[in-house]
Amino acid sequence: MKKKVTHEQTRVLNRQLVTKTIYDAGEISRAEVARVTRLTRPTVSDLVAELMSQRLVVEVGYAPSTGGKRPMLLRIDADAQNTISIDLSRKDFCGAVLDLRGEVQHREYRRWRNDRPSLDLIFELVDSLVAAADRPLLGIGVGTPGLIDAAHGVVVAAVNQEWTNVPLRQLLEERYGVPAYVANDCQAAALGEFTFGNVNGVQDLVVISVGWGIGAGIVVNGQLLHGTPFGAGEIGHIVVAENGERCSCGGFGCLETVSSSQAIVRQVHALLARRGDPRVISPEQVSFDRVCELFHEGDAEVREVVRAAGRGLGTVAAYLVGVLGIYHLRFAGQVTAIGPFLLEAVREEMVRLLLPALADEAQLEFATLGSDIVLKGASALVLHHELGVL
Ligand SMILES: [Zn+2]
Repeated sequence: MKKKVTHEQTRVLNRQLVTKTIYDAGEISRAEVARVTRLTRPTVSDLVAELMSQRLVVEVGYAPSTGGKRPMLLRIDADAQNTISIDLSRKDFCGAVLDLRGEVQHREYRRWRNDRPSLDLIFELVDSLVAAADRPLLGIGVGTPGLIDAAHGVVVAAVNQEWTNVPLRQLLEERYGVPAYVANDCQAAALGEFTFGNVNGVQDLVVISVGWGIGAGIVVNGQLLHGTPFGAGEIGHIVVAENGERCSCGGFGCLETVSSSQAIVRQVHALLARRGDPRVISPEQVSFDRVCELFHEGDAEVREVVRAAGRGLGTVAAYLVGVLGIYHLRFAGQVTAIGPFLLEAVREEMVRLLLPALADEAQLEFATLGSDIVLKGASALVLHHELGVL
């Protein structure tokens, strides 16, 4: 009996390996899959037959002739199955149906009632997405703020949401009968960028998401680093300003008080109020879009606020590079609208804090996936676990 279980486990792993190889290659022959995976040709043919019977893999035609018999090429049928993704990182939270290449097929928004998340509203959104999906569901992925025990899919603590120990994965799996995965939104974003963001074979990547809050997602050797059981990339409350402003966490001078979009808005509001701008009464009247306008008009004081925000990010980015030795850093979220000036400020601080050899090596870029980064990351989470791809 034990032997049979082992045999089945091997088969599952081999099937994931074959799926991943075809997924990564785009189009590939059975012989080439056997060569890459080091599985025997009969094993590959057998597994491919199984994947074809599930419609996950299709034959696309013969390869161009290279002299001998032309091999039949295989590819993943991106339309064979759907994933459902939920991005809970925004007040107007969002869900989508995606294909197996992470392309959004259908999306819907909801707004929290009284700014408080409720499971009922999440279920209502997923119900609607399930109805909209026209392919079998591979699984559901969720990216949410807070400390997440990803192994069990439990939201351990989400301060802004006032959630404690919510077993989101279990609740979704019980209700919908498909696998569900839950990750921190910034970690999901990093996985999304790593999977769909043209990283050109890079295996180590840090994505720093800077919006209302700030967090990093860390991919090491192609795997998302969660922490044990959580906490990797929780950079938002690292103190970067001694005697700085009070933070929502109760501390003072945290990165989020200097570099988050709300911190930038708050400081620009104070600036405009000081100038006696009659249109400015409360911070709510200064949007981040307005900050970007002022910045691009060349307002010197606004540029200084933005520069300080960039330097705060640079402090923490320097720590990340120094500790992890990862040099590919991408920035995501609302503040990317500021443009290259922000990255220059980040680099300025990194150069000040790091050994020159480390600072020189650092490659700072903006993430490529825009506002869909968490949705795509949640989908990547499902693909990673269910198909072994990444
Ligand atoms: Zn804090």
